[in-house]
Amino acid sequence: MTEQPAADRTGFETLAIHAGQEPDPTTGAVVPPIYATSTYAQDGVGGLRSGYEYSRSANPTRTALEECLAALEGGVRGLAFASGLAAEDAVIRALTRPGDQVLLPNDAYGGTYRQFAQLHQRWGLEITPVPITDPQTVAAAITPGRTTLVWLETPTNPLLNVADIAAIADAAHQAGAKVVVDNTFATPYLQQPLRLGADVVVHSTTKYCGGHSDVVGGAAITADVDLGERLAWHQNAIGGVAGPFDAWLVLRGLKTLALRMDRHCANAARIAAHLQDHPGVAEVLYPGLDSHPGHDLAARQMRHFGGMISFRVAAGEQAALDVCGRTKTFTLGESLGGVESLIEHPGRMTHMSVAGTALEVPADLIRLSVGIETIDDLIDDLDQALGRAKPGH
Ligand SMILES: *Cc1c(COP(=O)(O)O)cnc(C)c1O
Repeated sequence: MTEQPAADRTGFETLAIHAGQEPDPTTGAVVPPIYATSTYAQDGVGGLRSGYEYSRSANPTRTALEECLAALEGGVRGLAFASGLAAEDAVIRALTRPGDQVLLPNDAYGGTYRQFAQLHQRWGLEITPVPITDPQTVAAAITPGRTTLVWLETPTNPLLNVADIAAIADAAHQAGAKVVVDNTFATPYLQQPLRLGADVVVHSTTKYCGGHSDVVGGAAITADVDLGERLAWHQNAIGGVAGPFDAWLVLRGLKTLALRMDRHCANAARIAAHLQDHPGVAEVLYPGLDSHPGHDLAARQMRHFGGMISFRVAAGEQAALDVCGRTKTFTLGESLGGVESLIEHPGRMTHMSVAGTALEVPADLIRLSVGIETIDDLIDDLDQALGRAKPGH
């Protein structure tokens, strides 16, 4: 169980560095060791020395990460998984039964949609994509007694749509449904869905939480003790847990999450403003822009606007593909949230699995994961890739 943080350790940055991570009691090691063990010696049958018996059920390095994640999200129970999709699978199974209806963003992350539509639907879940930018439409789609889960992602991947978590949680709870928020894009530093009424937060810790593109991981966090027990039961029964080295990498990443996010957000804001004035760009999707339809909501619900930007290339799909092939500082690749800047074409890369569905993304769309490199280098790189000399050159 999560220990209450010491009274003097309540700030986000302090929790990120200390929650779940007291110096090792035997050696004084400041950093939690990587407990590479599958099993634990018992003092007589059933005599556990410290609560640990087998590392699928619990491992001290994973526990440190789980307690830290719970503290950062303002929850009571955190669980670390082998990937974001493994976390989602455990959460969906814990919260639904055959015959239930699930509402899902009509622009959800492609892997989430694939899991719902091609896996869980086969076992009797009914999947209804909804536009999450409109709380009234979401509320109207909820059928009391049948809709048991409303799945949100905000901002969404890759269209950067913003959902009103508090309003949708109210409507869902009135109908007896639970709300899960995929907080991967925002991170707990920018947005804390449990404090806005969500029941469960999920993460792909592969992204900003890990932050260095060197680990794949996932997490689920809840503020409800009983729900936490249910999720932990599913984590153990399904077995998609984070290994100790992966848990350690994510834990190390979390220590600098606030610093990294501040720079990701500052760099992204500069790039969004620059692209908005660029003749080669038809539209910039970034919640930090006044022109973004979710700007005011994002300003209320989030600390800053994040490091992800999508934009549409004026000259169409081929031009968008060409831009992706021309950047030098932005690496062409999938994934996001690392210190390095990445560029990708969602229609042909991350969101191929939703081609031909209601979730298909525009063919001229480019997605940027803005890293923490020197801002002028990033802007110069985009300018040369878009084929325009810098003003004054
Ligand atoms: C990457 C991602 C996932 C899936 O996480 P994995 O760690 O790749 O399994 C889920 N949701 C969002 C928003 C993502 O970006």
